[in-house]
Amino acid sequence: MIRTAGRRLLPLLPATLLTATLLTATLLPTRAWAEPPRIVGGPGPGCIAGAVPLPPAGPGFETIRMSRSWFWGHPDVIAALQLLALRARSAGMGSLFMNDISKPTGGPFPGIHASHMLGLDADVWLDIRPKPPLSPAQREAVEVESLVRADQRGVEPNLWTPQHAALIRLATELPGVDRVLVNPAIKRQLCQEVRGDRSWLSRVRPWYGHAAHMHIHFRCPLGQAECRDQAPPPAGDGCDATLQWWFDQLDAPPKPPGAPSRPVVLPAACAAIMARGPG
Ligand SMILES: [Zn+2]
Repeated sequence: MIRTAGRRLLPLLPATLLTATLLTATLLPTRAWAEPPRIVGGPGPGCIAGAVPLPPAGPGFETIRMSRSWFWGHPDVIAALQLLALRARSAGMGSLFMNDISKPTGGPFPGIHASHMLGLDADVWLDIRPKPPLSPAQREAVEVESLVRADQRGVEPNLWTPQHAALIRLATELPGVDRVLVNPAIKRQLCQEVRGDRSWLSRVRPWYGHAAHMHIHFRCPLGQAECRDQAPPPAGDGCDATLQWWFDQLDAPPKPPGAPSRPVVLPAACAAIMARGPG
């Protein structure tokens, strides 16, 4: 999850189109873990050793905002994201922008993410238009338009397309996916327009923000004995009173400020993992 939803547009500027070779030479991480993946914690707080980086670019995707080095994940997650990009490209979509997954050791992002600590979460932007490769500088500044109306009650009819629904479905069908978080207005749009097989809608869950990107959460991979999953999504398509609740909140009087959030408490084993880091 990310707290802010970008609202403005891609800086698809003319031309300094670097080759994939140059991008790779410029941006590839120089360190790697020398040990197998080990996820400790969850649901929520935790960390990961042995994470691998999403490459700067590949068939059907580009990694954006790489200066933050938040593109590390469990190998199964990184493989699934690359599979999503391939399937999206096969379906005629433009390159996908991907970024926040986890830090090289997992762990918290103070003030920004409440999740993304285990190498099992990834943000994929809901921009499926054809686009040229971006320069490294352009990738740092990418903003994607919100697909949700300013009143939060529906999608932008001039921006939303059936291909957006197709991309979200592809995400729910990746190996190991637990759930995909989108804005309640996007979930409601899916509820209204999806015909035929609606089983995948159970894995699409409404959450704050997520108007320009979706958050894909994966289950603990096999063999990760120290990783704990959250409860699976409820059965059914979720197009019910639990979805309406989100829209009822828009009409509710503002709540008084709550207690300050408590500091994240990590499992004890994370101290050594986060101190060691890759390399
Ligand atoms: Zn996220």
